[in-house]
Amino acid sequence: MDCIFCKIANKEIPSSIVYEDDDVIAFNDLNPEAPVHVLVIPKKHIVNLSDAKPEDQQLLGKLMLTIQKIAAEQGVAESGYRVVTNCGEQGGQTVMHMHFHLLGGREMLWPAG
Ligand code: AMP
Ligand code: ZN
Repeated sequence: MDCIFCKIANKEIPSSIVYEDDDVIAFNDLNPEAPVHVLVIPKKHIVNLSDAKPEDQQLLGKLMLTIQKIAAEQGVAESGYRVVTNCGEQGGQTVMHMHFHLLGGREMLWPAG
């Protein structure tokens, strides 16, 4: 499949991986918006949150708990962090493989813009 994040998950293109298990992979964003900017994705190709199915419920929960773990590993669990998933055109999604941005290491402004 011609999907850049599937290729990252399959190690067909390089990335700076910070976490991996059978279902989830996480890597540093190429253009970081914060000192910590990790993208957490399911290895399974799901387009975005709107594309997730009832059978993905366990995977979605695992993604959230994996983000919690990575936040601790990245040293932002106590200082705080933001988790964002952009969904569809007006949501600002540019890569059509569901991903969660884990942002931290600085004061995050709200709304984002
Ligand atoms: P979104 O706008 O939510 O779809 O975010 C896509 C994110 O993927 C952006 O923050 C990009 O900087 C990031 N990105 C795109 N290509 C790569 C790549 N090859 N490795 C790491 N991050 C990437
Ligand atoms: Zn994909």
